[in-house]
Amino acid sequence: MTNWIEVADRVYVRRYEELDLTVGLVVGDDGCLVVDTRGDEDQGAELAAAVREVTPHPWTVVYTHAHFDHAFGTSAFHGADVWAHRLCHKALVDNGAEQLRSWGERYRADGKPEIADALDRTTLVLPNRLVDDRAGLSVGGRHVELVHPGFGHSDHDLLVHVPDARVLFVGDLVENGAPPQFGDAHPLSWPTALTTILDFDVDVVVAGHGDPVDLDFVADQREELREIAQLCRAVAAGEVSTEDALAASPYPEEFTRTAVERVLSTR
Ligand SMILES: [Zn+2]
Repeated sequence: MTNWIEVADRVYVRRYEELDLTVGLVVGDDGCLVVDTRGDEDQGAELAAAVREVTPHPWTVVYTHAHFDHAFGTSAFHGADVWAHRLCHKALVDNGAEQLRSWGERYRADGKPEIADALDRTTLVLPNRLVDDRAGLSVGGRHVELVHPGFGHSDHDLLVHVPDARVLFVGDLVENGAPPQFGDAHPLSWPTALTTILDFDVDVVVAGHGDPVDLDFVADQREELREIAQLCRAVAAGEVSTEDALAASPYPEEFTRTAVERVLSTR
């Protein structure tokens, strides 16, 4: 499962059994860009070694968002500039240590002490190149755009667009193989973030989990997220009970319940 797949000219994805995670790599003439770094020090070291099997060029890192499985393996990428949304930096400062603690606890409870131990050893790397709405960078001569599509899976999701390859990395704004995660989400604006994704002229959409998808898949997920937003609005307005909303949702109960709670707590 963990091999590089070249989804377009010198644009690679790497899939992992753990959490069904997907990371990316864009290679230019004399530089490369690593899209997310996995979840702990050991996992990051594995990824860094795997990048070195593809290219010897200096590396730059970008975080799609601050969740541990995407952003906690960076200490292995010595000397890398790390790009992220400004609020990604804030999220890591505010809750990075808590993510380390709670996921360590969870992995220990799940009988995976080696991952819990690796989390204990993990040093967070804060981004040093901050993006507000958008930024362009040259990856070894190759143009790459970073775009914040508004609030969605988090308040700081960042899209990574490789125009010459017609590829878009979208982090957890799109989920393939599992329902979207609402724990830090903004369910009411998430559909609009997917509309921004649908405006890109790309062939391949790389989600943060599961196999890459296409824009049709994104359009379908937007419809489901619109239903969720509608249900959350109705609950917030007192027109529908939470129980009825859970029953009407396209997603499992616990996912919808989290979405409703997010909307009620953040309005
Ligand atoms: Zn996430």
